[in-house]
This record gives sequence, C-alpha cells and structure tokens, in this order.
Amino acid sequence: MSAGKQFRLGLAGYPLAHSLSPQLHTAALKRLGLEGEYRLYPVLPQDRAALAALLDRVRRGELDGLNVTIPHKQTVIPMLDELSPVAQGIGAANTVYRRGGRLVGENTDVSGFWADLERFLGNEAVGAQGKAIVLGAGGAARAVLHALGSHGWQVTLAVRRTSLEKAAGLAHVFRAAPFGGSLRWVVLEAAALLPLLDDVRLLVNATPVGMSPQGGRSPWPKGLEFPPTAGVYDLIYTPRETRLVRQAKSAGLRATTGLGMLVEQAIRSFEIWTGQAPAREVMWRAVEAG
Ligand code: NAP
Repeated sequence: MSAGKQFRLGLAGYPLAHSLSPQLHTAALKRLGLEGEYRLYPVLPQDRAALAALLDRVRRGELDGLNVTIPHKQTVIPMLDELSPVAQGIGAANTVYRRGGRLVGENTDVSGFWADLERFLGNEAVGAQGKAIVLGAGGAARAVLHALGSHGWQVTLAVRRTSLEKAAGLAHVFRAAPFGGSLRWVVLEAAALLPLLDDVRLLVNATPVGMSPQGGRSPWPKGLEFPPTAGVYDLIYTPRETRLVRQAKSAGLRATTGLGMLVEQAIRSFEIWTGQAPAREVMWRAVEAG
C-alpha cells in the first residue's frame, strides 16, 4: 500500500440517520493507523440514477468501497460487473469494491451472521445441523437461509400469509446455491407453527417487528409457546434488548440481538477494502458506545 493512502469508504441506503457503520469503520481505521473516512450517502428508494452515480465513483477509483443497505441490496445487483458466489446465490450485495477496473459485489451478511451464530450457539452446536425456524422472507432472511442451508440445517421459513409466494421464490434462489440443508415454508401463525416446535434448535427473527421506534412489538405469535430447546437470535439491534429477546429469556431460553452480526459483517467488509483485519474488541467498543 502506498504511504499516505486515504481510504474513502461509505454506506449507500435510506434512511441512514441511525446507522452505526460510521462509528465501526472510523474506529477500525483509527486503531490500524489508516487515514480515511466513512461517509453516509443517503440514496432514496427509487433513485437508481443516484445509486449508479455513486457506483461509478467506485469504478473510477474516487471511492475505495461502499456498503449497501436497505433498500438497495438487491437493486444494486444488475449495476455490478461481477458477483461473489454468495452474492450471486442470494441475489443481494452489501459490499462493493473495485478489482481490475471492475465493480465487484460481495455479501458479508452471510459470513457475518454465521460467525456470530458460532459465538452464540458455540462451534459444536452450530455445526450440528439441526432444525431452525426463520421469521421473514426479506433480504436479511436470504442471508440467514444461505448461511444455515450451506451448513446443512433444516430450515422452516415462517412468513405472512400474503408472502407465501415470496417464500417459495426463496426456495428457487437457494436451489442455485450450495444448499446442503432443506427448506420449507409455513404461515407465521400459531396454528401452523405449533406442530413444528419439537427439536427446534434455533429461532431467528429476520423481520423488522420489534425494531425501534416500535420496540414494544414481538414477531412471535401471541400465546404460542417457544420451541423448548431453541436459542433465539433476533437480527434487530435497536433496541439493544428487543421484546422477543426478553420474552425468550423469561421462558428460560438463551437469546441475543443482532449487534454481533453487525460487527462481524463490518469486519469482513473492512478487510475487503483495506486488506487489514480490525480487532473485534475495537468494533464492539465502537457499537456499544454508539
Ligand atoms: P426487508 O427486506 O424489508 O424484509 C423484512 C421481512 O419481514 C419481509 O419478509 C416482511 O414480510 C417481513 N415482515 C415485515 N413486517 C412483518 C410483520 N408485521 N409480520 C411478519 N413479517 C413481517 O428487511 P431486511 O433487510 O430483511 O431486514 C429485516 C430486519 O433485519 C431489520 O430489522 C434489519 O435491521 C435487520 N438486519 C440486521 C442485520 C444485522 O447485521 N444484525 C443485518 C440485516 C438486517 P413481507 O415479505 O410480507 O413484506
């Protein structure tokens, strides 16, 4: 790397006001003694021209890397020149960089989720290929499905009645990926979930239900018991303890929110852009202070 290199990094999405990514990446740059900045680039949902213009800045070398978040993780795909096998498999990218004059898309949510799941469940349990229930069928659910499926888990997606077709579409996406496990889908209602609760080792919330400012809500159907042997992983990280996590803990289950996934995906994106690995403790301190 040339001396005096300035890393110009940032995040494209909307809304971005509450993003913790600037704190994460700025702390990483500082700790490693690297010069540079991580800026927020708000891009409205329909504004593909603004997204394309931002990507052109990466292509021209004016920016060294971008994270992409809601609502552009999927719309960015056709604007890129190359995709990693993971980004290709799930049809979504959260990290963009330049290689040989070409724009490449990667998805670090998948490995970020998996790394934090190992922390949460332990290496042995996470590799033991059990049964999981995943709530939601959006972008984050795709990342979770890819991680679990690639490691041979048997996954049941639970979605709103109006989204059963969307869930079926995810099965199609995953047939193209190295999906070693199995996937089926049910309606996110007590009657459909009740017969499936035995032996479930993991329950993941990949819906935004319970996210601030609606922190009082839970995606788990009212009155339905929790799977008695499950760890509960809520992808939401604002608030720091969601209603779902509180409910699961009071039922005697282990439960976590998604701050660890946020940290892990950021570590991987940062490594792609700078070639250097930031210390995990530095990243945790940055988000805990944020
Ligand atoms: P998304 O693409 O908008 O998908 C959201 C999914 O949740 C959709 O399938 C949607 O259902 C479903 N949903 C929304 N409201 C619901 C409700 N009331 N009941 C049942 N299902 C409902 O969003 P996303 O990108 O997947 O993000 C989902 C959550 O994960 C967000 O809270 C986000 O902050 C979090 N996340 C965390 C991390 C992390 O690093 N920890 C990373 C990514 C995302 P329909 O299909 O029916 O609309």
